[in-house]
Amino acid sequence: MLVLVINSGSSSLKYQVRDVAQGTVLTEGLIEKIGMGNGGGGDGEIEGPRDHAEALELVDAAIHRELGDQELAAVGHRVVHGGERFAEPVLIDNEITRAIERLNPLAPLHNPANVLGIRAITKKWPQMPQVAVFDTAFHRTLPEHAWRYAVPDELYTNHGIRRYGFHGTSHEYVGRRAAALLDIPVEEFDGVIAHLGNGASVTAIKGGHSVDTSMGFTPLEGLVMGTRSGDLDPSILVFLGRAGWTPEDIDSMLNRESGLKGLAGNNDMRSVVEASEGGNARASVALAVASYRLAKYIGGYHVAVGGAKALVFTAGIGENSHQFRALVAERLGALGIELDAGLNTGRSKEPRVISTASSAIPVLVVPTDEERAIAEATAAVVRG
Ligand code: ADP
Repeated sequence: MLVLVINSGSSSLKYQVRDVAQGTVLTEGLIEKIGMGNGGGGDGEIEGPRDHAEALELVDAAIHRELGDQELAAVGHRVVHGGERFAEPVLIDNEITRAIERLNPLAPLHNPANVLGIRAITKKWPQMPQVAVFDTAFHRTLPEHAWRYAVPDELYTNHGIRRYGFHGTSHEYVGRRAAALLDIPVEEFDGVIAHLGNGASVTAIKGGHSVDTSMGFTPLEGLVMGTRSGDLDPSILVFLGRAGWTPEDIDSMLNRESGLKGLAGNNDMRSVVEASEGGNARASVALAVASYRLAKYIGGYHVAVGGAKALVFTAGIGENSHQFRALVAERLGALGIELDAGLNTGRSKEPRVISTASSAIPVLVVPTDEERAIAEATAAVVRG
């Protein structure tokens, strides 16, 4: 069964065709600068599509070149915000598309772009089954004490202001693979998953379900990220507002100029680690702040799940930066966590254990693959 996985952004369209049974990628690509005039595309041959419909024509042509007339069975869309309604992947129809659109205010950069991708497919291939896979859905099991902010109830009831959580597709997929590696049923998996990419979040999983996660109303809350601040005192925003910063200034500073970039002047973990090893004090401070923040969350989530049975690292930094993993683990001595230096610096694309035999709980590295998870979820929904 061939599934086209679409990640539609406001000016870009990322796609992958997956063979679900084989777990393989048959072709993939990125169309960029949609609606930006003659900017050219990501693929060399591809030149500035006017809109998402035109971008889809380019995708269709590229797929045909690569795969001949092999038929796509379905399209799976990565949809960022599923609000309170969507707790699992759904088959898309007009009502579902409108429901995703109604969530635009909660994800103004992402959901409108996801809807453009869905509508472009609907128009081109009206009979094609389409499935929406939501970044928030896995976190619909958060208990109320974890998703409530302690603000007047009216903010929740009138504006939907609560914690939603993101990266759910990755956390769920990685949790399942971690349970498999530990040889326990996922329903018995209690653990902490740290998804550390440009965006980063950590999730507490109890009995296979998400019971807490560090991103909140938006992906800004929680960990120190590439360019996002994560947690801070909300009064800082009030202070800056009074000092004349506009909401756009504050938004841009917190989402694009903060995190590793704000602290070390560079948003790329590899560069920050290299700079720190070369004696750059700002880089060392950035690593200390980021690893300390994550260690605090892991300690808290150890409590949230009633004693984690595993700690799992995933995504670009989690999978590749043995230095950052070591910094985090060093702070977790009180939990009896101990990395094996040799295993930690080892390299493999397979899920693996990196802790010592005497570590209180195993520490794992489990590569994530959101496209694979989306393709599998899409196939499962289409098969009913
Ligand atoms: P995204 O959230 O954009 O998908 P990724 O999961 O690709 O991000 O993660 C990007 C981060 O992973 C960057 O900070 C990058 O420096 C880091 N990274 C990737 N490879 C390595 C590596 N070999 N060593 C250290 N960090 C790495």
